[in-house]
Amino acid sequence: MPFLNRRRFVSIVGRRSSLPDGLWMKCPGCKQAVYRAEVEQNQQVCPRCAYHHRIGAMARIAILVDEGSFEERHQEVQTLDPLEFKVGEATYLEKVEKAKSNAQLSEALVVGYARIEESRTVLGVMDPFFMMASMGSAVGERFCRAARDAITERLPLVVIAASGGARMQEGILSLMQMAKTAEAVRRLNEAAIPYITVLTDPTTGGVYASFAALGDITLAEPGALIGFAGPRLIEGALKVKLPEGFQTAEYQYNNGFIDQIVKRSELRPTLGKLLRYLRPQ
Ligand SMILES: [Zn+2]
Repeated sequence: MPFLNRRRFVSIVGRRSSLPDGLWMKCPGCKQAVYRAEVEQNQQVCPRCAYHHRIGAMARIAILVDEGSFEERHQEVQTLDPLEFKVGEATYLEKVEKAKSNAQLSEALVVGYARIEESRTVLGVMDPFFMMASMGSAVGERFCRAARDAITERLPLVVIAASGGARMQEGILSLMQMAKTAEAVRRLNEAAIPYITVLTDPTTGGVYASFAALGDITLAEPGALIGFAGPRLIEGALKVKLPEGFQTAEYQYNNGFIDQIVKRSELRPTLGKLLRYLRPQ
């Protein structure tokens, strides 16, 4: 699908979200019953308390880019099963196929060219519903190819990150993607290509420990879970009590890891402004 228009994207928005089925839903933020359609029309953000629900990659692209401007690339980079991994009867590749048909995506990271408020950019968007946006070899390779496109075309790179961590079905190959993507970011730096990341709920594990945290500018959505290992694991390993709100976007912002927290409705104008300032020479 080389060119996708917004109408097609919007038709996906309702289906590709973390909203439960039914006309009414209980908001995890304000615990109130809210009208589902109202949340959907509000870019999957609660109209009462601004709780940001997770959204799929295509729905995200629909609200972010200029209409019809997204041109997907590198779809040919697909997941393989080098370890012939199996849990019970299901093979890894069967799980991937299921994720593909559920998400209507070919991997957890979609990359391509797009325009945001008329600025052309290379864009990568992760889908939190595709095997928890875990990073395997295909995700790592797509990121590196997007970075290479940005260098070749002298365009900025914008990545909307989300991840539950490493794709453990690929073992060490999955972990090696951290070094590989970090090296791609080094090449972006060397070529003086602006690299902007937006951390969304949840950005954790190997993705956070590599390319998601290496942006020249790091933005985050309100309330997003951001961190490396889960709080229970850290408390268990270090025998310490972690502070309140640990690993939220707000906590990370207060401690200097994030440049700005941006509401979903403000993301497009904010990125548009940054891309106008940061046009590569
Ligand atoms: Zn709410």
